[in-house]
Amino acid sequence: MRFATKAIRVGQDPAGPHLPVIPPIYQSATFAWNSLEDAPAFDYSRVNNPTRAMLEEILAALEGGFGCVCTGSGMAAIAAAFSLLKNGDHLLMASDIYGGTHRIVHTILPNQGITFTEFDAREPGTIDTAIQPNTKMLIFETPTNPNLRIVDVEAIASACKRHGIVCVIDNTFASPYLQNPIALGCDIVVHSTTKYVGGHSDIIGGAAIAGTQEVYNKLFAWAKSIGTAPGAFDCWLAVRGVKTLEVRMERHCANAMAVAEALERHPAVHRVHYPGLKSHPDHAIAAKQMRAFGGMVSFEVKGTAADAKRVAESTKVFMLAESLGGVESLIGYPPMMSHAAMTEEQRMEAGIPPTLLRLSVGIEDAQDLIEDLQQALAKVSALAR
Ligand code: PLP
Repeated sequence: MRFATKAIRVGQDPAGPHLPVIPPIYQSATFAWNSLEDAPAFDYSRVNNPTRAMLEEILAALEGGFGCVCTGSGMAAIAAAFSLLKNGDHLLMASDIYGGTHRIVHTILPNQGITFTEFDAREPGTIDTAIQPNTKMLIFETPTNPNLRIVDVEAIASACKRHGIVCVIDNTFASPYLQNPIALGCDIVVHSTTKYVGGHSDIIGGAAIAGTQEVYNKLFAWAKSIGTAPGAFDCWLAVRGVKTLEVRMERHCANAMAVAEALERHPAVHRVHYPGLKSHPDHAIAAKQMRAFGGMVSFEVKGTAADAKRVAESTKVFMLAESLGGVESLIGYPPMMSHAAMTEEQRMEAGIPPTLLRLSVGIEDAQDLIEDLQQALAKVSALAR
């Protein structure tokens, strides 16, 4: 089966007395035993649940992994991966990483006796210098947020293999449709299913997909013990969402390309970051490892922070909101939203100027999106003069 067929059919055959085409929601905390000698396949929903198991089977198939553990959020999936570390271990973390991951690594892992070093994932050679005798894991993501730089997944995974450490990638921005990191050598793929997998901005969820049974067993045992289970209804919504992942991603990518090209031509735009543009510094790596270039675009407005804020507050189709990956288009102002926890100095170092805006390009009509940005950009002072 190919991607779109797997998304619609894996684990979803009609079953039970009524053969429903759409599997039911098993909204039950516990399941009855026929007798003490005959334990049910599912007995308690913190441990496992049929609706969750269906979602896990689909995501494992879409990522080409051995098995998947779904969690109540993307952060819990990242915590599941970190559960493989123990007191005395060392972690390598890409410096360009989601703020929530940065927070766990900086504030929670040190309390557990786990140290870390940040490295530049766009320079895989830096792994050789950052590695320590007790390094056990590396975590990175691509495309990065908010500058949409691309990291060579195969190069990072092979460095991890060489050093015998677990390679974890956050694949949220790409989605399983655009990039399958296990085939490129990664050990664990995490997703915030809140984003493209769910696709409709109506759930919070996560998934950790393991390449091998050994790693899967560890993730499962941790999630069951800690109790990170998502609810059955959220899993059912994610299953409904993931069925259309391929068609949604095709449209997200086409719209994002059209928006990026229009922005690149706009006189009030200083710079556009989109890996699909030939002008993007990592376009060649993106073309090598991704099926298409994604639905996220960021751009720098000419002028001041006030101009960028005015644009963010002036769009009518793009809604000013956190998050990404839903069918609706969102605009974000990283300095006050996704990257507000960083100081201005840290943001400048990370290449996040006060004139940067981030778009999660949805699946509306591309021309409506372009016209919306054009009317908002008309308010930039450089043009008004
Ligand atoms: N990873 C990335 C790349 C994200 O953008 C996010 C959330 O924005 C997360 C992980 C965390 O996901 P959640 O909000 O579902 O916990």
